[in-house]
Amino acid sequence: MDALQQTITGFETWHLALPVTSTRDHGIGRVEGNCEVIILALTSEDGTVGWGEASPWAVFTGSPEASHAALERYIRPHVLGRKLSKRTAIMSDAARAVAHCTEAKAALETALLDLTGKLLGVPVHALLGGSGQTVAANAMRLPLSVSLADPDFARDRALLDRLRLDGVRIVKLKTGFRDHAYDVMRLEALAQDYPEFRVRVDYNQGLEIDEALARVRDVAEFRPDFIEQPVRAHHYDAMARIRAAIDVPLLADESVFGPEDMLRAAREGICDGVSVKIMKAGGLSRAQQVARLAALNGLTAYGGDMFEAGIAHLAGAHMIAATPEITLGCEFYQAKYYLAEDILEEPIRYEDGHICLPDGPGLGLTPDRSKLERFAV
Ligand SMILES: [Mg+2]
Repeated sequence: MDALQQTITGFETWHLALPVTSTRDHGIGRVEGNCEVIILALTSEDGTVGWGEASPWAVFTGSPEASHAALERYIRPHVLGRKLSKRTAIMSDAARAVAHCTEAKAALETALLDLTGKLLGVPVHALLGGSGQTVAANAMRLPLSVSLADPDFARDRALLDRLRLDGVRIVKLKTGFRDHAYDVMRLEALAQDYPEFRVRVDYNQGLEIDEALARVRDVAEFRPDFIEQPVRAHHYDAMARIRAAIDVPLLADESVFGPEDMLRAAREGICDGVSVKIMKAGGLSRAQQVARLAALNGLTAYGGDMFEAGIAHLAGAHMIAATPEITLGCEFYQAKYYLAEDILEEPIRYEDGHICLPDGPGLGLTPDRSKLERFAV
């Protein structure tokens, strides 16, 4: 049977609460205790299973309950009984069936691609255009950035010592959740005690308009690779003013979800680069569109993530591997440095400060079904 003529016969979801190892403060909110994700399994006629993950953050993209309902109530009828060859049509129907809920749509496309890749015997990055990244000779590897967001900086120092031993050389300092002096103190500490790390700064919308420019100017003195999203997502004018006033690249994250936002962001000159996430864009293909629009407009792109488990990490990694416009590395670190345990049978391989794509068809992963039951909400 032609693999793509197979019909999708199974649609199953799990709402998980995954314990985490520390508290994380970001400009717009705190995460502690656990992070919640929705797992999707699509089954084809021959019993092959494709996996996807929605990784929402309520204060950023939306709630896990909304993702779960989007999948179970609004998207499921457009998937069951359809042929895998209709992937684009299924995604269009899902987009029309429910507004927003981009994480649910990312889970859907991830599961469709994983299932298609498994049936065709090719990895997901090949379905998305093939490897376009400069990678190590024998393995698909992407440079990893790990975020420092612990309210207790002593704990982040311990993490930095661990990262140094692991070969990680990029960190992103989360700022704007306490006071400016705390942010400057941590940047000084990084410069003095951890000079081998490249540093990026992310405010996660944490600054008020009237204080933003002065603070961002101070931070720019430390010459980070970039400064990300100092003000609220909809403050395009303020983003453009800040960008014009500093000589360090300004990145948009919360201001740019999908390609439509990217068009407007480029037109209005609000950023020098963009954080591309499958959870914001509503899938891997739309994330690629964001990166390509950025590049066409002379802007750089970074591979961001949400509070994710392993399925979403590897979906994002396959997307980036096929998207050479994303040149600033990626941040798929939670599975190793944040979750108490990931949900995959075979842990994601991290090597020398890089995340490694597994060999094998589809995403190249298998979730541990006992963990799906154990962590279910
Ligand atoms: Mg960000």
